[in-house]
Amino acid sequence: MNPLGCHALVWAGDWSEPSARYAIESTARVGFDFIEIAILDPQSVDTAMTKSLLEGNGLGAACSLGLDDDTDVSSEDPAVVARGQDRLAAAVDVAHRIGASHLVGVLYSKLGKYAGPITPAGRAHVVESMSWLAKQAADAGLSLSLEVVNRYETNVVNTAVDMLALIDETGADIGVQLDSYHMNIEESDFVTPVEAVANRLRYLHIGESHRGYLGTGTIDFDALFGAVRRVGYTGPVTFESFSSAVVHPDLSNNLAVWRNLWDDSSDLAETAYSFMASRLTDH
Ligand code: MN
Repeated sequence: MNPLGCHALVWAGDWSEPSARYAIESTARVGFDFIEIAILDPQSVDTAMTKSLLEGNGLGAACSLGLDDDTDVSSEDPAVVARGQDRLAAAVDVAHRIGASHLVGVLYSKLGKYAGPITPAGRAHVVESMSWLAKQAADAGLSLSLEVVNRYETNVVNTAVDMLALIDETGADIGVQLDSYHMNIEESDFVTPVEAVANRLRYLHIGESHRGYLGTGTIDFDALFGAVRRVGYTGPVTFESFSSAVVHPDLSNNLAVWRNLWDDSSDLAETAYSFMASRLTDH
């Protein structure tokens, strides 16, 4: 079966030692293979503490982030792009130091709503920055994937096919990350995008249409998991869910997490694990 992961925001909104310990121990206890840690502020991550907790619990890790207005590599302003590359370099360093296997997320854009479409100059900065990032990630031994997200969270690309075209432009070895929550908003169905990126798919987020309990929203998970298995995808599959019960100071606001969709992190994670495992194995 694919390695199964759980997003840290299921457990904790910050990465202090007690929060990291709780998130890592809980993720391991449920049976997941790895945890995805949001490192929007890489400099704030205690890498020695994180690595030690991961090793102590036999848990793998992926790191994810999105950029902000001040570090947006899709900006027309070279100074903003330079700050964005500094942020990404710091993220590569953190991911490498904690022993993560994957660097994923909206690494090519601000995470949030834009007032207009991307410009040609902005897109050129994305291509240049992702080509540069691919080299950094490869040198650090990290698998790099760019997440396809919906129109309210980036204006760079919003579909799997457009992400493929962007990656092709970089000429670099970069994977595609799909997310059922975003696919539900932007794609025509849950099968065509998976087939379109099949041999470039390197990371998969599983989230419901409202980002709460799996199986209680409108997403056709049978179609999605069917396609994922049919194309022979063997990479990581990570449960991602957000509720106002667990809040990250920046990320939760960028993602418009205003509602309480759950309070019991353990029950949520256990349900998600069973839901995903049962659909990825024969039974
Ligand atoms: Mn996602």
